[in-house]
Amino acid sequence: MFGEDPYTVEKSRYECTDCLNRVTTDGTLGSCPDCGGRMRNVAVPRE
Ligand SMILES: [Zn+2]
Repeated sequence: MFGEDPYTVEKSRYECTDCLNRVTTDGTLGSCPDCGGRMRNVAVPRE
């Protein structure tokens, strides 16, 4: 179930490399809020 608009990519998306938890934030995210694992940016914003 996808509740996000795929055409609205104004925020950064991060995916946890440990638990695959996905978080959308307008800032930077250093660690997973769920397990504290490392997050990687999965969004590719246009520059
Ligand atoms: Zn995690």
